[in-house]
Amino acid sequence: MELNSLTILQLGEKLRGGELTSVALTQACLERIAVTNDKVNSFITVCADEALAAAAEADALLAAGDGGPLTGIPIALKDIFNTRDLLTTCGSKILANYIPPYDATVVAKLRAQGAVIVGKLNMDEFAMGSSNENSAAGPVRNPWNLERIPGGSSGGSAAALAAGQVSLTLGTDTGGSIRQPASHCGVVGLKPTYGRVSRYGVVAYASSLDQVGPLARNVEDCATLLGAVAGYDPLDSTSVDTPVPDYLATLKDGIKGKKIGLPKEYFIAGLDADVKKAIDAAIEIYKQLGAEIVEVSLPHTDYAVACYYLIATAEASSNLARYDGVRYGVRKDEGEGLIGMYQQTRAAGFGDEVKRRIMLGTYALSSGYYDAYYLKAQKVRTLIRQDFLTAFEQVDLLLTPVAPTPAFKIGEKADDPLQMYLSDIFTIPLNLAGLCGMSIPCGMSGEGLPIGLQLFGKPFAEAEILQAAWAFENATDFGGTLAPL
Ligand code: GLN
Repeated sequence: MELNSLTILQLGEKLRGGELTSVALTQACLERIAVTNDKVNSFITVCADEALAAAAEADALLAAGDGGPLTGIPIALKDIFNTRDLLTTCGSKILANYIPPYDATVVAKLRAQGAVIVGKLNMDEFAMGSSNENSAAGPVRNPWNLERIPGGSSGGSAAALAAGQVSLTLGTDTGGSIRQPASHCGVVGLKPTYGRVSRYGVVAYASSLDQVGPLARNVEDCATLLGAVAGYDPLDSTSVDTPVPDYLATLKDGIKGKKIGLPKEYFIAGLDADVKKAIDAAIEIYKQLGAEIVEVSLPHTDYAVACYYLIATAEASSNLARYDGVRYGVRKDEGEGLIGMYQQTRAAGFGDEVKRRIMLGTYALSSGYYDAYYLKAQKVRTLIRQDFLTAFEQVDLLLTPVAPTPAFKIGEKADDPLQMYLSDIFTIPLNLAGLCGMSIPCGMSGEGLPIGLQLFGKPFAEAEILQAAWAFENATDFGGTLAPL
């Protein structure tokens, strides 16, 4: 499907030039979804009628010469975003029937800019996972190799792009959930600085870490979508009131003279040989582009996974207390009395990984263990953030691998949660530090699986990251292509 491989800039030109209507483009997306979704399982909900109605409205705006870069462009959203009158399951049985009465702020912003929401994307239940195997809607398959995981938790968001189902998707990243699936599916994904994008109306997992961000098939589209959703929101007290730069204005400025740091703790013995080769080649390209490469140290990196899985589970255990069979979603009434109803509802509604994390988090917060685990983890978190801030006194950006290996096989780590958690080693520290980072394609493994490289930036330096990402994309020909489905 040729239309589905175009960038949104190219699509926008066709829409504005009268060569293409949003209705026709939306229909093409719906057809592509219809023929590929049984293989990839990236969509939980497709809202064809609503999408075609929104597309017709966008066409009216375009015909009048109005609208912006997103007007008439189909987009799909991770099923974690509340969408008014549209099923929002968060990949869980407990929300199998949940139809929100309101839109998340980012959803409202997209609608106001004329984007056409075509559906909701598969994900690990409550965004807990690195492989998209923890979904009540079944696993997502990597479009590059259907036996492999697409990454998680925004696996549907990355797979839908690689499969050519849509050109833009929105995900969330609590410990790598945008960057890691982007890397495994050969697409681009950006995790903004904590506070850059509103979390209002986004189902909470670990509130001090969760952040919303864009995924796309190229850097320019990613920058456009970030600009469309970023900004202060009075409904989210953690969003920061600092102006949103024009990310496109500086995108092509190059990276001559910029200092890029390589944190030595990220170049470890366990790194897959293909990943190492691709990252080493990327470093050479950055040198040729005029960047200065220096080695730096983030000495507390080793503690990040343990620290994250204490803080994230503690916050999750608290956030998920709200699913009690009364306020949201599914209710099981067979139990005895109120407590019995809670027990039945939660036992039937949550999957194994979510239950594991609620138990871990509740334990870490319980009296007597709070100081030993939760409080200690918070202190370690401060040290990890400090590592980054110290490194950024010497360099403008950091460059690392995204994941230690290319996409692993479905089922390979499903019975070994610790191995699964350890695969997050390169993405988690950034969330603990609250900074911004991005994954961009930088090669393919010998087995034909995409490999991503990661760029980290200073607080609110998304524009700089995008600039460095664009320079790399423009100098190479990785990414941008659809998986041969
Ligand atoms: N894999 C990590 C986890 O399972 C990160 C998930 C995320 O970023 N939402 O918690």
